[in-house]
Parts: sequence; C-alpha cells; structure tokens
Amino acid sequence: MGKDVVVIGGSLVGLELAEWLAERGRNVTLVEAGQQLGIPMAMPRRWTAVRKAGDLGVTIHRKATVTRITADEVEFTVGEEKLSAPASMVVFAADTHAGAPLAEELAAAGVSVEVVGDAGEVNYIEGAIHSAWKFARTF
Ligand SMILES: Cc1cc2nc3c(=O)[nH]c(=O)nc-3n(C[C@H](O)[C@H](O)[C@H](O)COP(=O)(O)OP(=O)(O)OC[C@H]3O[C@@H](n4cnc5c(N)ncnc54)[C@H](O)[C@@H]3O)c2cc1C
Repeated sequence: MGKDVVVIGGSLVGLELAEWLAERGRNVTLVEAGQQLGIPMAMPRRWTAVRKAGDLGVTIHRKATVTRITADEVEFTVGEEKLSAPASMVVFAADTHAGAPLAEELAAAGVSVEVVGDAGEVNYIEGAIHSAWKFARTF
C-alpha cells in the first residue's frame, strides 16, 4: 500500500477509513468536496470521528475539487488555491452506488437470482439484513 494515502470522499466510509489507516501509521490526506464530513453518522459519533482523524494526523481538505491523479500525487483545488498531496495509493470513497453485474449475467443466462444487501441498494447493515430477511420469508 505504501506510506502516503489519499482518500477521496469524506463521508462515513472515507472518514472511518482515513482514521483506520492513520492509526496504522499511514500518512493520510482526506479530500472532501463538501464542507461536512461523516454526514450519515449520527451525532456525536461524527464529531468524535472528525476530531479523532485530526488527532491521528489526517490532513483534511474540505470544499476540495480533485483535478488530477498522477503516479505519485493527487492534485486538487480549494477555491482558487491549487494544492497537491503525496499518494502511493488513492482510495475513492465517494459516490457509492449499488451494482450486481454478476447477478445480471446469471439472470441473463436463465439462472434465478435474488440480489440482497448493498449490491441491490446501499443501505447499511440493517438494510442488508432486512433485504435478506424479506427474501428468506418468501420460502
Ligand atoms: C468503513 C465502513 C464503515 C461502515 N460503518 C457502518 C456502520 O457503522 N453501520 C452500518 O450499519 N453500516 C456501516 N457500513 C456499511 C455496511 O458495512 C454495509 O452496508 C454492509 O456491510 C452491507 O452488507 P452486504 O452483506 O450487502 O455487503 P458486504 O458486507 O460488503 O458483503 C459482501 C461480501 O461479498 C463478497 N463478495 C463480493 N463479490 C464476490 C464474489 N464475486 N464472489 C464471492 N464473494 C464476493 C465480499 O468480499 C464481501 O465479503 C460501513 C461500511 C464501511 C465500508
């Protein structure tokens, strides 16, 4: 993975991942397009996570627009300012969406398939369990 990690997207997943990587000694930069981090998290967990990420040394840039990813850095702008962060690895943790291409292929081949969990709809653990439960109840 290398030492320098840039996480693009500071929602729940990006923020927790940045914190987790920083705890394990990585030099982490978190680049978020909006102003707020960890949006789907309930308060006060969100505040705690943002503070902990900062305490662990995560460099946080808000209102940042990524312009280019090169072999060793991520370039972005914050307002008029052009910035960059070193990156031996880039994690894209924004714009999460559901998808089940394997299920689509199986269905096209005539196999009966049911998609449950985040593959069908991004909806946290409870949603994943609920969608599986709904299907299990049809038997
Ligand atoms: C950093 C982070 C923090 C989160 N925190 C929370 C939280 O606090 N509360 C909450 O409710 N939700 C949280 N979530 C979301 C939660 O993890 C997901 O909503 C939930 O795990 C979805 O369950 P799932 O079973 O649909 O998918 P997953 O848990 O992703 O399980 C899918 C499994 O299928 C495997 N798989 C994929 N493709 C194949 C294949 N072709 N063959 C075999 N295996 C395959 C994967 O390896 C994986 O093990 C978090 C997610 C992340 C990333």
